[in-house]
Amino acid sequence: MKPMDEKMLHELVSAVVKRISFEDVVKDGGFSPAFEKVDDAVEISVKAQRKWQFEYSLDKKKLIIDSLKADLLPQVEEFSSLALKDTGMGNLKDKIMKNRLAIEKTPGPEFIRTSCTTGDEGLVLEEHAPFGVIASITPSTNPTASVINNTICMLSAGNSVVFAPHPGAAESSIDMVQRVHDSLISHGAPEGIITVLSRISMKNVGALMSHPAVRLVSATGGPGVVNAALSSGKPAVGAGPGNPPVVVDETAHVEQAGKDIVAGCSFDNNLPCTSEKALIVVNCVADQLKRKMLEEGAFELKDPAKIEALKEAALNEKRTDPNKKFVGKDAVWILEKIGIKAPGNVRLILVECELDDPIIQVEMLMPVLGMVRVPDFDAALEAAIKTEHGFRHSALIHSTNVDHMSVMAKVMETTMFTKNGPSFSTLGFGGECPTAFTIATTTGQGPTTPLSFCRLRRCNLHGSFRIV
Ligand code: NAD
Repeated sequence: MKPMDEKMLHELVSAVVKRISFEDVVKDGGFSPAFEKVDDAVEISVKAQRKWQFEYSLDKKKLIIDSLKADLLPQVEEFSSLALKDTGMGNLKDKIMKNRLAIEKTPGPEFIRTSCTTGDEGLVLEEHAPFGVIASITPSTNPTASVINNTICMLSAGNSVVFAPHPGAAESSIDMVQRVHDSLISHGAPEGIITVLSRISMKNVGALMSHPAVRLVSATGGPGVVNAALSSGKPAVGAGPGNPPVVVDETAHVEQAGKDIVAGCSFDNNLPCTSEKALIVVNCVADQLKRKMLEEGAFELKDPAKIEALKEAALNEKRTDPNKKFVGKDAVWILEKIGIKAPGNVRLILVECELDDPIIQVEMLMPVLGMVRVPDFDAALEAAIKTEHGFRHSALIHSTNVDHMSVMAKVMETTMFTKNGPSFSTLGFGGECPTAFTIATTTGQGPTTPLSFCRLRRCNLHGSFRIV
């Protein structure tokens, strides 16, 4: 063998280094979808969207989105753990269920339907077209499931998306965008079809929403972000806060109601905006309901001094908002903070109180449930209306009286209404519903699907094309 001279050695080292860097790049997806500058994220998003809309057939889009779902499922424990570690809110078992649900039951391109009408004057075709680049602002309470759910819906409609995640969930949100992007690219989607802002500030979010190339703003969060989206001058999907009351009347299957309420209210430590947040029960079944709830893992806080300590700790000074440090924490942790050592199986803290108590009226986003007794269904309905604050978000009833169910569904005017089930059944768990983690309460698109991120376009062929 010929001895290796310095030139040959140099060439060999360069070739190895080149191969290692290439492999690293390929392993990492070859491209980072995280951008510090708004302009950079939007610029690549515009290019990717044009390609996605015009160069990818419907079949190809569906194949890529189905492949994304298949790629994400085996990673679900990993990114659910990261979301928990990053935010310190919720619990792993329920986060896994939520993310799995987002992957399996978010509707895809099959949801887009075309309508066609023919008559003496010709043929009219109406199709759901993409907006273009969407700015999506996501909450801390649902970081990874929101990225998955929004990506599937928005891309199925032919859009691209730039995510602006909550600063309190930045690491898990950016990681989620990277995973989703890597999968999409590996199946042939254009680079930059989803991007994410890596430097998150109100200024940056504002700049993103008002960027001239952004065609639609989707905001999921509290009233601040929804109002900001509505003031952006762009079409908006505004998914705002709620305070879902659950009514139990004298005709309810009380045992089932108790089981469902504990399960729904404690799910992911009450983080979902749709979860039961106030219990209103007709007096004659209240004791039976409470007994069942205690069997199911509720802990009743009765001592007035401890109830006061709970409000002191878990609410802000004015008692108008929750204390962020308590949001999404589990019931045992919360009880410990007020000096109560509870058994590990406690899932929910139940507090009997008056209707105007902040535990009832504030969206607590933690497993603390206020319970109000009322004499009859009419009083329950009045209390539920007061508790929902006109958000038109979610409400629930346990009843076998068809009139009660119908009246409440009509009068509450909520986007989501659940009869005789836990709140999460209306998100798709064990229910018939497709899944939405952006529930457009304020702007009225409702539980979002690909259709919520489309604009309707009409094409008229005047005078011909009927075949009979
Ligand atoms: P949040 O309002 O604190 O934050 C949401 C996002 O908006 C974050 O990315 C934040 O950085 C940004 N933001 C907040 N104010 C803004 C402003 N003025 N301008 C620009 N950006 C702004 O919400 P959160 O605490 O993460 O989430 C909890 C809230 O979100 C609850 O009220 C819950 O009910 C609601 N929520 C609603 C839905 C729904 O589908 N309707 C889903 C999840 C959460």
